[in-house]
Amino acid sequence: MEAGGALKLIRFYGFRGLRIARGKGQYVWDVDGTKYLDCHAGHGAAFLGHSREEIVKAMVRQSEEIISLSSSFSTPALEDAIDSFTRIAPGWSKEVVFMNTGTEAVETALKAAWRYTRREKVVSFVGGFHGRTLGSLSATWNPKYRAGYPIPKVATFLRFNTDPSEISGKIPRDTAAIIVEPVQGEAGVIPAREEFLKALREEADRVGALLVFDEIQTGFGRTGRIWAHQHYAVEPDIITVGKSIAGGIPASAVLSREEILSKLSGGGHGSTHAANPLAMAAVAEASRILVRERVWESASTKGWELAKVLQSEVGGLRVVREIRGLGLMLSVDLRVDPTRVIRCLQMEERVLALKGGATAVRLLPPYLISYRDIRWVSLGINNCICREFGC
Ligand code: PLP
Repeated sequence: MEAGGALKLIRFYGFRGLRIARGKGQYVWDVDGTKYLDCHAGHGAAFLGHSREEIVKAMVRQSEEIISLSSSFSTPALEDAIDSFTRIAPGWSKEVVFMNTGTEAVETALKAAWRYTRREKVVSFVGGFHGRTLGSLSATWNPKYRAGYPIPKVATFLRFNTDPSEISGKIPRDTAAIIVEPVQGEAGVIPAREEFLKALREEADRVGALLVFDEIQTGFGRTGRIWAHQHYAVEPDIITVGKSIAGGIPASAVLSREEILSKLSGGGHGSTHAANPLAMAAVAEASRILVRERVWESASTKGWELAKVLQSEVGGLRVVREIRGLGLMLSVDLRVDPTRVIRCLQMEERVLALKGGATAVRLLPPYLISYRDIRWVSLGINNCICREFGC
């Protein structure tokens, strides 16, 4: 083989200029040993904390037994995952499939809806984010993510959180699925209004479409309930979940009412790694942690505290429009581009955060965030806004 330079890594996301060596709980350390409070948490996947001891041990145990196996076989790990997931699944859900990533969970949900209804149309929402593979991208709103790809033209985008009168009678009769995030994440952390979700439920029932709640970012305790839709008196037909359901190991899942996901059985869908033993051992362990530590309750109380301290530290600043969110899914929405604030947070305050929409500093910390950390991030945002834009 010819000697040559190293392969060039093509990054999907802009490089943040940091080399992270390790993570523990709500913190990460760079290769020079500098500690950061991680409110980015790998796009929210580290909600249970980095390198949880229980997850690490379960991974070691499972690796010594078996790592790779098709889900056409059963394993104690798969049975354990189904068992643990059953304990946290919403009461209306009766069927589950496991996949690897969020976008695959959405693809799976859409395929099930297409098969179930034998229709093609999808209704999605302005600002909605559902993933970046072609099926899920068809329902993802951001034109920047869609540009240049031959995406199936199945989706109509309606306004998110619009008045119920704008929804009522507006969903076409040939709609297979209405897909919506209970709290829009990528768009800047915007909780849905209950009347809006109720109107979607009514319309789905009226036309015979399936209502899909994409809980990939909101689910598994992050918003203060196990599933974000449990804040609302509205039940969907399908939910998609991912990110932290396996304590940071890649895994996603779809839950549905009876006779929906089953439309995909017998070759209707599949994936080599879906429901692999390693991921299933992680799902089982993560679900046990969720229940044992009542993680959603911590997310609720700490989320309130974080929102309160943020409000008092930065709520009154000139460039701050509002502080919003649910549980530990929060954003500080600015009247300006937040990029400089996010950069300053990383470089000067040692806090990692993400952008949300065009104007929000989005915070998705692990539920282990302490009251000290809450002050750390809130004062950090205050310092950075004042430094970059004046107080
Ligand atoms: N849906 C929602 C609501 C998300 O927030 C995300 C990721 O951020 C996805 C789908 C896609 O998940 P993944 O990046 O794991 O494919």
